[in-house]
Amino acid sequence: MTTVDQAGKIILKSISPLKRFEFANLSSCLYRISAVDIMSYQNIPPFDNSAMDGFAIRAKDVKGAAWQRPVILKVIEDVPAGYVAKSRVGRNQAIRIMTGAPLPKGADSVVIVEETGKGSRVKGSAFAKASADRQGTREEEFVQIFKAVKTGENVRYAGEDVRKGEIVIRMGSLLKPGHIGMLASLGIRKIKVFRKPKVAILATGDELTKIEERLKPGKIRNSNSYSLAAQVLEAGGLPIILGIAKDKRNELKVKIKKGLKADMLLVCGGISVGKYDFVKDVLRELGAKFKFWKVAMRPGKPLAFGMIGKVPVFGLPGNPVSGMVSFEVFVRPAISKMLGRTDDKECEVEAVLQEDIEKKKGLRYFLRATSGCEDGKYVTRITGPQGSNILKSMVLANSLIILPEDAERVRKGESVKIRFL
Ligand code: AMP
Ligand code: MG
Repeated sequence: MTTVDQAGKIILKSISPLKRFEFANLSSCLYRISAVDIMSYQNIPPFDNSAMDGFAIRAKDVKGAAWQRPVILKVIEDVPAGYVAKSRVGRNQAIRIMTGAPLPKGADSVVIVEETGKGSRVKGSAFAKASADRQGTREEEFVQIFKAVKTGENVRYAGEDVRKGEIVIRMGSLLKPGHIGMLASLGIRKIKVFRKPKVAILATGDELTKIEERLKPGKIRNSNSYSLAAQVLEAGGLPIILGIAKDKRNELKVKIKKGLKADMLLVCGGISVGKYDFVKDVLRELGAKFKFWKVAMRPGKPLAFGMIGKVPVFGLPGNPVSGMVSFEVFVRPAISKMLGRTDDKECEVEAVLQEDIEKKKGLRYFLRATSGCEDGKYVTRITGPQGSNILKSMVLANSLIILPEDAERVRKGESVKIRFL
């Protein structure tokens, strides 16, 4: 039987990035994939500015300042954020400055307001009086500095975040809220992104009923089309629900052909060894060549993958959980590759298992689990019955426990690999 790793490699080798673009508005490009390197044409911040509310000063003027020995400076101007100071900070002078305001000329540092005191605090002190007299000003226009600062302290320099000419977003990156903030700060309102792959989804089975119809005896609702469509959306694709095909060769052929107009086709159900499982035959008739149709995993053993022309076609197992797990393991990475994503590395972490699990040797297990953090370590437990039809196990799960092929039983307290969903 083909292993999970072999199957994954075969699939990804057949898939190429779509390389089709479109432009998205800043407000609607969340979770799209950038189709270009984005270079900054300016410095961010654009000018040297204050990181704190305080006083812009010359570091050398406050050398040796301490709580017991404040240095007194003359306050010559106030500069709120959004304005530029008119005056220049000269010897023993300060400009009251707010966070984000441009650093005034002459100043090289900012003393935070918490380390200063009002001139009036020195009311009565001989020094304050003397300097007030000397400079012909009132006491409140002075500030006491209680602490020395290093040159550049509390100053944010131009280009400290982004340098003009720097690539800030790489082609193939997923645009997350931080990226969107960056684009906004550069004034970029239209972003070239990769087009979402259209992923057609065809459910198969005589037992399936449209979700809006009443159930007749022996029938069940077509849930897979919807869970798979949701997974496609989550993976960054555009789902196209083709509805249900009966287990009849002709009907399957017609509907599968329709699905081949999309960028990818998912057919679910009908790929096992049942008497009415015609999907593989029909896909073959349409030109698909299969390198495998069984993968050594649980759930999700039946799986077919082939190309029909340029369209990758997946035959996914019909059992609701099997289909979803197969999607996670094989289809999501394929959509990512089609999308041109370069930053999508699957991440598995170690967690401490909270119960004993028996397993069959030779198969990789993907158990639905709830995982969380306890005492700084991940812990994990399964969500109850793990049958491939138990959709509730997906509802309850936030992760999958992945048990390797060669394991036979795993004990409570052992470390296992998990992947968050
Ligand atoms: P199959 O792979 O066609 O043999 O189906 C396996 C199991 O999954 C059967 O119990 C089907 O009834 C069920 N199943 C197949 N397709 C769907 C679907 N679209 N929605 C819900 N259950 C399904
Ligand atoms: Mg079926």
